[in-house]
Amino acid sequence: MGETGEKKPVLVDRYNRHVDYARISVTSRCNLRCVYCMREGHRRPGVPVEELHYREICRIVEVLGGSGVRKVRFTGGEPLLRDDIVDLVRYAKSVDGIETVVLTTNGVLLDRSLDMLVEAGLDGINFSLDTFDADRYAAITRRNLLPGVLANLESLFRYADVLRVKINVLLLRGINSSELTDFGELARKQPVTVRLMELMPFDDHQIWRTGKFMGADKIFEKLGNIYPVLKSMRGHATEHFSFSLPGYRGKVAIIPAFTRNFCSQCNRLRITSSGRIMSCLYSRNGIDLLKALRERTDTGQLRLLFQQAIDMKPKDGREAGEAVPRTSMSEIGG
Ligand code: SAM
Ligand code: SF4
Repeated sequence: MGETGEKKPVLVDRYNRHVDYARISVTSRCNLRCVYCMREGHRRPGVPVEELHYREICRIVEVLGGSGVRKVRFTGGEPLLRDDIVDLVRYAKSVDGIETVVLTTNGVLLDRSLDMLVEAGLDGINFSLDTFDADRYAAITRRNLLPGVLANLESLFRYADVLRVKINVLLLRGINSSELTDFGELARKQPVTVRLMELMPFDDHQIWRTGKFMGADKIFEKLGNIYPVLKSMRGHATEHFSFSLPGYRGKVAIIPAFTRNFCSQCNRLRITSSGRIMSCLYSRNGIDLLKALRERTDTGQLRLLFQQAIDMKPKDGREAGEAVPRTSMSEIGG
């Protein structure tokens, strides 16, 4: 662990990348079964799931804050399935060093906790929504819950001045790619960033292999047909992939998570729902943090574990090279 000029701790890897952002998967449980993420039988009812306890997550955030991490994202699985999610957000916001706390959710349960999350100090929400069509929603998520989700999205807009809202749209060829105009409309009406995302090879039953992948270039081409003004922004687009359209309250972004290599700027580490530190999405093993936490390891030793994980951070996903994992994104923390 190095020190900056201001004596703030920093986590630096072998390639001089500063790691200041942690994604914590607080559960692998979910109330949806998105076809690109998990199988219907992902978890059998009644079978206990090993996941980090409240105090353990708090401890992780404390150690991270003291090691140089500035931003924490709670994700999963579905983070709102945890009864203590509001307390986790409140606690994380109180930790020295942590400046930003955000979460990613499918929005199904947001009505239960939105007001409390805002009051607890949450800075932003990534709300995953792939379609506005009820049948399509049921086909993608295997659950018939769209009306409630849309009502919760509407409620979220009430907080758009205090919360940074992003809409995660996973684009699948021939499934929801026809809805680009509707998502564009959302960005016109609301001050949100609509993120059009590429499918990644993290799904238990490999929809990845079924030709549904839609690359960023194709997304850009389709978007350019709807908004010709985008074509003139192409140079800018290859750098930022984020577009402000004239007269729009929000933005549209393309997230080429698979086809472009952003590894040289990667500032992330992940904690899996079973308590492993992963320094790269493509690594398979990681470091067992849960065991250390349950053995009451002291803070100095926990910090060393994080630095050890950062030291193992591969140069890029290819160097991680341990064949493409089939694990669901819900375990790793998407
Ligand atoms: N359940 C929450 C949700 O859906 O927002 C949080 C966890 S989910 C794993 C986080 C994000 O990962 C979602 O936006 C989802 O679309 C994305 N995701 C899941 N599987 C993916 C895959 N195979 N490729 C790309 N993104 C994926
Ligand atoms: Fe659940 Fe999110 Fe995975 Fe969908 S993407 S199954 S909502 S964890």
